[in-house]
Amino acid sequence: MKPIAPPLLAWFYQNQRTLPFRQDPTPYHVWVSEIMLQQTRVSAALPYYERWMEELPTLADLAACPEEKLHKLWEGLGYYSRVRNLQKAARMVLDVYGGQLPASYEELQKLPGIGAYTAGAIASISFGLPAPAVDGNVLRVFSRLYADNGNILDPAVKRTFTARVLEHQPADAPGDYNQALMELGALVCLPGGEPLCDVCPLQNHCMARAAGTQLDFPVKAKAKPRRIQPITVLLVHGPQGWLLQRRPEKGLLAGLWQPFLAEEALSEQAALAALQKLGILAHCRQPLPAAKHIFSHIEWHMNGWLFTCPDADLPKGFVWADAQQLAEVYTLPGAFKAYRPLMTDTPVKF
Ligand code: SF4
Repeated sequence: MKPIAPPLLAWFYQNQRTLPFRQDPTPYHVWVSEIMLQQTRVSAALPYYERWMEELPTLADLAACPEEKLHKLWEGLGYYSRVRNLQKAARMVLDVYGGQLPASYEELQKLPGIGAYTAGAIASISFGLPAPAVDGNVLRVFSRLYADNGNILDPAVKRTFTARVLEHQPADAPGDYNQALMELGALVCLPGGEPLCDVCPLQNHCMARAAGTQLDFPVKAKAKPRRIQPITVLLVHGPQGWLLQRRPEKGLLAGLWQPFLAEEALSEQAALAALQKLGILAHCRQPLPAAKHIFSHIEWHMNGWLFTCPDADLPKGFVWADAQQLAEVYTLPGAFKAYRPLMTDTPVKF
């Protein structure tokens, strides 16, 4: 294939979006923005990015940030392991690398939460190093460019695509080239519908366009069906506020706060008994609406009840949180957003 970099870069310099982390692409800025953007659209991530940089302008600020504040800054973005890894990695950079992210594609990948893609983005954009940054956008663009029907979820296929991305990468602008590919995937070679081939700078290179088969790519093998997990949510209100429980340090939603729950379908009687075990003599007020939350491999199917209770001392790992603490201190994962409005009201006391 003819080199794609010249038309791609010319298009990028004319059409790229103005983004705060592009204006000042320090390693810290690129790193935080790329982690935020992993599961989030640019428009949704921007306010988070700006608030983050106001609160934590340096890597040292991130390393020293109290956990609850860190979770608050991330509240709504989901996949909280990302923010925990950001802080772990920041602390490691202070301990091991003298406070500077290492200027090495390989060394960057030794840090928690930094995989090949993020390392490639930081190495190429901030340090000007030749490195690939291959995300879903880039895989889609290359699968169409080469009309390649390899399954892009297969690591061997991804390696082949990565080699092609590198073949085209110009030595004098690796960061711009990587960003241009991502931008093309986000703005022109769109997922889930017709790509905008008529305005694509690579339309004369593209094998899928030549064959009229753009929508056949990328090929993805069918994912395994998600496991269904019944969840019983026990929304309990006492004189000091709502009952919250801290999740275990490892696993799904690690270390975050949630309403008391059971990872099984409980009857009302069994739910009352579970509360009694905590020392809470509750009174059931109403059933909760059913809700569903989808994680990558699991679906939570939630039901439950709203309870009220008199004051009770709580075991370790549980707290009462009033409305202000819910707003400012405790981060409730998005999985519970169906129940969040109920928690702003104060139900009738026991
Ligand atoms: Fe994608 Fe169309 Fe450009 Fe090919 S020509 S890379 S399908 S937008």
